[in-house]
Amino acid sequence: MPPANSPTSSSVPGDGGATMDIVVIGAGVQGLSAALFLQNDGHRVVVVDPREPGTGTSFGNAGAVVTTSCAPLAMPGILRQVPKMLLDPQGPLIVRWSYLPRALPWLFDLVRASRPRQVERISIALAALNSRAEKPWRELSRLCGAEDLLRPVGWLKVYEKAENFEATRAERDLMTRRGCRFEVLSADELRQLEPNLAPHFRWGLFQPDAHFLLDPHVMTSRFAQTFLQRGGEIRRETAGTIETTAEGRHRVVTDQARLDADRVVLAAGAWSRPFLKQLGVRPRLDTERGYHLMLPQPERGLNRPTVNGDSGFALCPMLKGMRLVSGVEFAGLAAAPDYRRIRGLLPLAQRMLPGLSGDEQSAWLGFRPSIPDSLPVIGPAPRLPGVYCAFGHGHLGMTEGPVTGRLIADLVAGRDPGLDIAAFSPGR
Ligand SMILES: Cc1cc2nc3c(=O)[nH]c(=O)nc-3n(C[C@H](O)[C@H](O)[C@H](O)COP(=O)(O)OP(=O)(O)OC[C@H]3O[C@@H](n4cnc5c(N)ncnc54)[C@H](O)[C@@H]3O)c2cc1C
Repeated sequence: MPPANSPTSSSVPGDGGATMDIVVIGAGVQGLSAALFLQNDGHRVVVVDPREPGTGTSFGNAGAVVTTSCAPLAMPGILRQVPKMLLDPQGPLIVRWSYLPRALPWLFDLVRASRPRQVERISIALAALNSRAEKPWRELSRLCGAEDLLRPVGWLKVYEKAENFEATRAERDLMTRRGCRFEVLSADELRQLEPNLAPHFRWGLFQPDAHFLLDPHVMTSRFAQTFLQRGGEIRRETAGTIETTAEGRHRVVTDQARLDADRVVLAAGAWSRPFLKQLGVRPRLDTERGYHLMLPQPERGLNRPTVNGDSGFALCPMLKGMRLVSGVEFAGLAAAPDYRRIRGLLPLAQRMLPGLSGDEQSAWLGFRPSIPDSLPVIGPAPRLPGVYCAFGHGHLGMTEGPVTGRLIADLVAGRDPGLDIAAFSPGR
């Protein structure tokens, strides 16, 4: 094996303010955000990822930065939805039969997390994290000269059917209890906000404080460029194992090198699972797969990402076209994509936004790194405290990237992160 690549001498790990060698595993929004904040603290940071930075799940999402989001995936009553999930291949939540045995423990924990007391606890933690997400997003977009890509346009859900809007009551009550700002819009108010939407929508649920990333990939590419310009290193390698050296440092063994480090950040998204046993991480990690189709930008488009609350998909007016985003599919990391459902939504999308062309430009499958309690895993690993976890952000990973990076940098520096992180603990 080639020799270890980091400098032979290092300052004392953890002695507040000392420069450390840090390896970050994964160049998605989580890894790159942590890398930038750690670099800003003066550390020597190396990011490893076999892919081009930002081309994992951070590439093709809906781009919403929903700082007022506090509702977990598992709300009370989800148990009633599970049989439908298993039987309806066109539903918004799909479990492939062949994957069911592997998904069952995760789904079991999901149902446990849906108990009312758990939902209250989880929503308090989510509200605390997400309400802190805007400031670090602004800091990083300014640092990377990408403020133009972060738009304060809010997050809108629209409903045609009364029963579907009524079904949001529990979520609205939760948002009210947590102080997360939202507005209920009438059909007329909807029209003023989005004049090109089809007129059949009668209710809107609007979170005005949310932001929108015009192109998540361009954003993370600018993160990566800035990191490199400021002296960082990105290695196109796959991390295999994390070892402890005789001197008590860490060693990340990749397919090409051994990288010694004082601290390691595990930010490999949905691919973090092989490391978890060794690190003593307790929450289950699985992937909620999700799809997008890119369509031409219509002449009469949208001002903001807009969710069709009746059918469970979103239309997002991105820099390079209209992105139709949908789906939660349990089928693991290896199964081939199944674009039938997202393509099947096209007529509904065209009904929602008249004039939308069905001329598909590209199709994409992404892998949300999801924990059943909807809380990310952030903090030192129980068995190797010099390894910091930054994964498991599920549906809100773009929202929570920079704030997680900030937290990791604070924890590494021994600074008070200003937030109780117990709810995100890898040992919970
Ligand atoms: C359809 C869809 C829509 C979404 N919409 C939104 C939204 O609107 N708002 C929001 O907040 N979130 C959204 N999300 C969620 C969000 O995209 C993810 O939570 C987030 O991108 C996860 O970021 P990450 O850095 O953890 O993972 P990734 O971006 O997947 O990055 C992980 C990286 O780790 C690398 N890696 C894997 N294994 C190794 C290894 N062994 N060694 C080195 N590197 C490795 C991978 O190559 C990858 O580049 C959406 C997700 C999907 C699928």
